[in-house]
Amino acid sequence: MIGAIRCLLLWLPVAASLGAATPASAFLVQSTQSGNGPVVMASWGEDDVPFRIDAAGSADLGAAQTAAILRQSFTVWENVEGSRLRFIDEGLSSGRDASRRDRRNLLIFDETGATLGAPDGSGIIAVTRINSDAQTGEIFDADIIFNGRDFRFAAEPTPGRILLRDVAVHEIGHFVGLDHTPLAGDPVQRPTMNPFYFGDGPGEASSLAADDITGLRVLYPTFAFSSMSGAITGRIEEPGGRGVFGAHVTALDLDSGELYSTLSGAETGVRDRGAYALRGLPTGLYRVAIEPVSGGLDASNFSSLFATLDADFPLEYFGNTDIASTALPVLVTGGIGSSNIDFTTGFITPGVPFVRSVDGPGNTPDAIGPYTTFFDVVNAIRVEVIIEIDGQVSAITAEALGGGMFRSQIPGQHVGTHVRYRLTAASATGISVDFPAGGRWLEFDVIGLSGAPLAFTVLRDAGVLGVFDTGADVEVARVDLGDDPIQILHSPDGQFLYVSNLESSEITVIETATFRIADRISVAAQPLDMALSPDGGTLYVTNSGASLLTAINLESRRVLSSVSVGALVEGPYGIATSGRRVYVTDLRSNAVVAVEDGQVVARIPVGGGPR
Ligand SMILES: [Zn+2]
Repeated sequence: MIGAIRCLLLWLPVAASLGAATPASAFLVQSTQSGNGPVVMASWGEDDVPFRIDAAGSADLGAAQTAAILRQSFTVWENVEGSRLRFIDEGLSSGRDASRRDRRNLLIFDETGATLGAPDGSGIIAVTRINSDAQTGEIFDADIIFNGRDFRFAAEPTPGRILLRDVAVHEIGHFVGLDHTPLAGDPVQRPTMNPFYFGDGPGEASSLAADDITGLRVLYPTFAFSSMSGAITGRIEEPGGRGVFGAHVTALDLDSGELYSTLSGAETGVRDRGAYALRGLPTGLYRVAIEPVSGGLDASNFSSLFATLDADFPLEYFGNTDIASTALPVLVTGGIGSSNIDFTTGFITPGVPFVRSVDGPGNTPDAIGPYTTFFDVVNAIRVEVIIEIDGQVSAITAEALGGGMFRSQIPGQHVGTHVRYRLTAASATGISVDFPAGGRWLEFDVIGLSGAPLAFTVLRDAGVLGVFDTGADVEVARVDLGDDPIQILHSPDGQFLYVSNLESSEITVIETATFRIADRISVAAQPLDMALSPDGGTLYVTNSGASLLTAINLESRRVLSSVSVGALVEGPYGIATSGRRVYVTDLRSNAVVAVEDGQVVARIPVGGGPR
């Protein structure tokens, strides 16, 4: 079985979108399947693997410097604790033939393209070719070929050049049997085995992330490592039972923040397209999730086992939920893992209740109550809310509002009370489902405040409003907002806060005395900046994605009007009011547009880029 892993070059646009990912660590072993046989994992049969370096080295660096960097790169992997693997340096080779059958593991620089055969502009910086036994997965020949025709290599960060050490450490990862990982992240957290050379930080690929290290340990474990680590295994299937292939499975260590990943279908020794295994995990509680491979990656970025990747399913956490905080944690302890961590894609099984969302209170200073909670539940005719306060458990029946919506009112509690609640949703045929799964609770505190002023701030990435007690210098509460909350404004009397949510196109109204959400008002695309009318009765919002100006009556909390502010090049962004006039900015045409009674009355040229 002959496999080659292509390593691509990619610049920033996609890298930036990948940068939003959580702290990353992951690994995937190169796996193959012979015909319809079981999947096998590629690894060397011995613990001492020889390599030899082409005596010519890189034309950009010369023989001595090339050999020194490549040897250091092997050392990076050899130094991993918990792995038995060692390398034997067979010295420099005069033969430049990277044959896959000569059992000589050669590293060469292809300065003409003759060996690599890659088309012009392929972006391939290097290739590692592995020859392994189709039945056992045992690697018996591996060669690394660097593309010296299309790329200039360097020993130190140099504009326009590729750091040889970064590429070499990555390729040696393939050399020992690792595949690419779909996980990304910033330069510090990104696994070395991510397929892209981002060129965004010195040594971005030459310092191994926890994921890379775990991959090596799983392939060449020391006894101590085997006895201390555990696995999470399971199966992913569609509602009809068909296995889901190539799903990205991640396990987040809730203590350390490390993220481990694999693809379904790579589980060795079986022929099940939906089976997955995350091995080598340290003791801890994990949040397990499935999602399609994304971020500019497709099947071509992985070894030949993955000719296709199933992608038509949503992000889902273990416990049949898309709400991270209600996922069911999975325990790995003392070398023992968890099996049967199974998923059925999609959330709604016919006839079975499914809780789509819960809109309940966070920490609040409100001792009067009641604490209103809304539940959006599919396939349920009855929802019971179980409440635990000071060890006393009681239950109330939620009021059905129609359309799958239910409302419950937990009575007011004195300051200092910790309130826990969960729900049981029952279908017409008597099937009942608990939420959150696993006997866990949703909870909030009735908090005491110092009496000093409170500071409210929008935490954009977290999608919440943070409440800070400036007397005690602590964050006392968080309130869930919409998607991408960006701007905050308070009413003249200080009773309410208004938050614009760029992505979910809504204005959240929050009561400052209780931290409760009083309303969510839908508006046109991408609400950004807000201003009040001089009398405080109208809230004006710029809709930066729709060239509109929205006016909201704050008494009724209804949209009064949404008026066009002309053909703006980009905006409107900023906003201000004066008398009956509203002024908004057009970023690209360097103008402020004045609107009165829904009509554009003036365009005022201003300096460059008015936000
Ligand atoms: Zn690669």
